[in-house]
Amino acid sequence: MSKHNSPQVKPERTRPIEAEVLGSVRVSPSFQRVTVGGGEIADLAVRGFDQWFRLFLPPAEAPELRLPDRDGLSGYAQLLTTPKAVRPTMRNYTIRALRPAGEHGGAEIDIDFVLHENADGRLEGVAAHWSTTCRPGERVGILDEGIGFDPAPTADRFLLVGDETALPAIAGVCGSLPADAQGVAIIEIPDASDAQDFARPDGVEVRWIPAPTACATAPSPIARPSLPPRRSTTPRAGTATPQARRPSRRASVACS
Ligand SMILES: Cc1cc2nc3c(=O)[nH]c(=O)nc-3n(C[C@H](O)[C@H](O)[C@H](O)COP(=O)(O)OP(=O)(O)OC[C@H]3O[C@@H](n4cnc5c(N)ncnc54)[C@H](O)[C@@H]3O)c2cc1C
Repeated sequence: MSKHNSPQVKPERTRPIEAEVLGSVRVSPSFQRVTVGGGEIADLAVRGFDQWFRLFLPPAEAPELRLPDRDGLSGYAQLLTTPKAVRPTMRNYTIRALRPAGEHGGAEIDIDFVLHENADGRLEGVAAHWSTTCRPGERVGILDEGIGFDPAPTADRFLLVGDETALPAIAGVCGSLPADAQGVAIIEIPDASDAQDFARPDGVEVRWIPAPTACATAPSPIARPSLPPRRSTTPRAGTATPQARRPSRRASVACS
């Protein structure tokens, strides 16, 4: 895994690979971790940072997985023209961990699914629901989309802000930053016990914000984050990933 600021990376391969579910476990009240391996998963390049991918799931009514076998836009057109009844569901996810040699004997990745509940406490979302019901051996498709994190090459202080769906991305970025990086990661989580341990440089502080208390203190840590003093003279800071923008906006609106 690179320890340098990432150039935004887009993989050459534009067709999904096929893999299979190895296991699924609840890691905290709002996170279900699915481990995927086998198939072509060993071909997945380890890129670190917020490496994300499109996940293809078989439709509930037709458990056979029909992945596009053409490249790029042609593959996307193929997906859209697949009859609805057999068209895979596609969602965006982040690699939470990638082990070239996992305990199941080959390469494997972990995917952390946030479990969103509606007002009645019922689980919402096709992918979230799938993560809690999938069985070992079930086939999935994975289309690597590379890295979205794209700080200036000279950045050495980082402000990372996101909600629970950005936790895997922020953890990946923290684990890939150079050891002398400094900064603050602010992560909103539905429940205090959803906080996770992850590797990060000593100079990067993590602040967890359990959602119900996000506005309880003033000033909000999201509205007024303070970064460590700059060591270099370069006035730059890295920021978080796209899916992190919606929640931080939501939080600042709610607190204003
Ligand atoms: C680059 C990228 C990487 C991502 N990585 C991850 C990841 O690693 N883990 C992860 O859990 N998510 C991640 N997401 C977010 C994820 O793609 C969406 O939350 C997705 O819609 C979930 O699919 P679903 O089928 O469960 O829900 P959907 O069927 O898409 O949505 C159904 C309902 O679920 C609820 N819902 C869905 N998403 C949210 C949300 N974010 N906040 C509140 N309610 C919601 C809403 O009520 C929605 O109407 C990522 C998004 C992007 C863009």
